[in-house]
Amino acid sequence: MRVKLDRTVCDGFGICARHAPAYFSLDDWDYATLEGDGTVPDADRPAVTRALLDCPVHAIAEVEADGTPKRANGAAAAGI
Ligand code: SF4
Repeated sequence: MRVKLDRTVCDGFGICARHAPAYFSLDDWDYATLEGDGTVPDADRPAVTRALLDCPVHAIAEVEADGTPKRANGAAAAGI
């Protein structure tokens, strides 16, 4: 699993850092920074997925290994 964080969308709720502190740190205003390149080993997938799902502004997204946006299975199958 690989994720990216859009800091322009982050609204500083800090939920991600509570769920997955090894991957998301907060600055003095509680805006998040993604630690590392976003690569998440399987063992940490549940915590990072929880962070992704609980971010109220959808600032965290799962991406393909090369960093391109991950598409839903149906869209990928349809070539959309
Ligand atoms: S949960 Fe979302 S809005 Fe809150 S700090 Fe993390 S990325 Fe930003």
